[in-house]
Amino acid sequence: MFDWTLISEYLALIFIAVVIYFYYDKRQITTPRRRLFWSCLILTTSSIVLNILTIWVDDMHANVPLPINVAINTLYFVSSVAMTLVITVYLLMREYEFVHDKQGAKMAGYTVAALGAIYAALIATNPWTGWLFHFDASGDYLRGPLNRIVYALPVAEIILIVSCYLLHRKSVSLSMRKIVRCVPIIVALLLIFQRIYPEQLLNGTFAAVIILIIFMNFQSVRIEVDSLTELGNRSSFTAELAARIEAKQDYQVMLVGLRNFSEINRVYGHAGGDIVLFQVARKLEELSRGGFAYRFDGDEFIVLLPHTDAAEQDRRLDRIVSAMRKPWSVDKDHAVRLNAVIVEMRHLGKQWGPENVVNRLEFSLGVAKRENAEVLRFDDQMAERYAKQKRILLSMQTAMQQNRFETWFQPLYCAENGRFETAEALIRMRDEKGRLVSPGDFVPLAEQSDVIDDLTWIVIHGACDLLQSGAIPELRYVSVNLTARQLLQTGVTERLAALLDEHDVDPSQIKLEITERTVTENGALVASVMEEMRGRGFEFMMDDFGTGYSNLSSTVSMPFTYVKLDKSLIDGICSDKNSSLMVSTLIPFFHKVGEKVVAEGIESRDQALAAIDYGADRLQGFHFAKPMPAGELCLWYRTTGRQFKL
Ligand code: C2E
Ligand code: MG
Ligand code: MG
Repeated sequence: MFDWTLISEYLALIFIAVVIYFYYDKRQITTPRRRLFWSCLILTTSSIVLNILTIWVDDMHANVPLPINVAINTLYFVSSVAMTLVITVYLLMREYEFVHDKQGAKMAGYTVAALGAIYAALIATNPWTGWLFHFDASGDYLRGPLNRIVYALPVAEIILIVSCYLLHRKSVSLSMRKIVRCVPIIVALLLIFQRIYPEQLLNGTFAAVIILIIFMNFQSVRIEVDSLTELGNRSSFTAELAARIEAKQDYQVMLVGLRNFSEINRVYGHAGGDIVLFQVARKLEELSRGGFAYRFDGDEFIVLLPHTDAAEQDRRLDRIVSAMRKPWSVDKDHAVRLNAVIVEMRHLGKQWGPENVVNRLEFSLGVAKRENAEVLRFDDQMAERYAKQKRILLSMQTAMQQNRFETWFQPLYCAENGRFETAEALIRMRDEKGRLVSPGDFVPLAEQSDVIDDLTWIVIHGACDLLQSGAIPELRYVSVNLTARQLLQTGVTERLAALLDEHDVDPSQIKLEITERTVTENGALVASVMEEMRGRGFEFMMDDFGTGYSNLSSTVSMPFTYVKLDKSLIDGICSDKNSSLMVSTLIPFFHKVGEKVVAEGIESRDQALAAIDYGADRLQGFHFAKPMPAGELCLWYRTTGRQFKL
């Protein structure tokens, strides 16, 4: 005959089984919190099973030896007390997660321990006292005088959880708040139900309902999923990484960036792009067996795998590299190749937090993209580069606060009259000890942040000060370096005009140098701003022509009055046939389209003569003068510049 009083316990078992099924994921690392939740699950299951067993055994006590009956009942008491205690500890832990008052957490811990001790003592002494239960001569189960005290435990625990919540209400997470609000209500409803139907056993149901609430609130949102690829998103990656770091587990992580993804979106539309992303996600998921794949950002994925021997880690990387090289179909007629870049990091016992790992990965991805690498390993050398970058970023910030940036000037030789009528203003930074830091080290970093704006204005100020002072009467203009991004900022023309006005400097005395790289990145928009500024009297020079970004058509179509041929073109002007052919062809070409030419990086007299021979209008380089501060520049004009003979 089926015992209907047990129906809710059977249902509770099914609930718990479902939670276990969804919670179980062997790839996941065990953290103290996960371990605690597992303990809740296991203790709840065992206490329900034991409860059912006690009823069975009681029904058939004639056939069951008394010691077994005693043992099962004792075990039931042990597991149900342990279950409520562990659930309480779990909830208190979540409650105190963001609370700084560790003293409060300690007090709560002591209270739980004291409750545990009282109940342990009661259970341990029961065979002698019979306070909880005992058996009569015929083997019938009889409740002891303190039998109902077991129900006092959850009540005490709920009071504890609610009081801790009331004490730290402001720092308790939203999910925990919800739990604190609904658990007492649910318990009260179940108690009412129990009073109406006293024959029903509800112990397991109580626990299962609480476990379900915890699972829905905390555990099931563990993996936040990206809706398109169905992979975990960035925050699930950082959560998993944090768990591994906390558990001091080593791991291998690979960040996969798709360099040309925006192009695929442009050509095949977003729907086409999504199809490719979905396929990449599936492939990476397949290749991350034993670990996880995540969509880290729009066109960036991450694979996180447990640590293993170096050879296997190499193979994993190779598999991802070769998978990414294969074509991906966009529709039934078209397939695309992704220009993927992969950064790999093997984490071995480092003390980095998840944010540090992410920063290092993103830094390396940036480096790999700039250097056109397909695979880049975060090794000691990269670690050094990263540390240097951080140092420089930090020191740029303090340098800004402590006015350690200076404007230096490098005069330019005019081929027509042999005089130094113009100069380029260049930024310099001093470190804490007063040593110069090369712009090559900090300008590219500054360009990636807003710092570049401040630097540019420092240089423009410096140039205006020099021009306003009139200390070098033959100086017709000074050129300053600008990024195209700065040009696109609203109000830049007005700000520049106001600054020049303040210094009584005419727009024709300041030339704006822009590298072609930054121009091509921002295309037509930059050209229109340049046109507008030209209308107000400003002129532009294209910097670093020949560094690989240049293309003639954009040079010609943009309103530049000067083109500066990069040092890399000038270097071989006397020794290399190709270089001399290029320079000798380019200069007349630029002249024909109405642009004057500066030869950069002249380091010898021969180079200077060759550049002049090929028609360069101005020459800049260490052969004439290195960049120097304004004061030194004035002195240089007096002692060297005005008497200079080539
Ligand atoms: P750039 O604008 O092409 O500046 C010319 C660079 O070439 C300067 O380096 C100059 O010192 C160097 N140079 C000139 N003649 C010679 C030579 O004969 N031999 C060699 N080896 N080098 C020579 P510097 O001052 O280190 O600046 C490097 C780059 O940093 C600049 O290249 C420019 O792109 C950037 N930069 C400097 N100051 C600023 C600034 O205020 N704003 C921005 N946006 N960029 C700046
Ligand atoms: Mg320049
Ligand atoms: Mg240059």
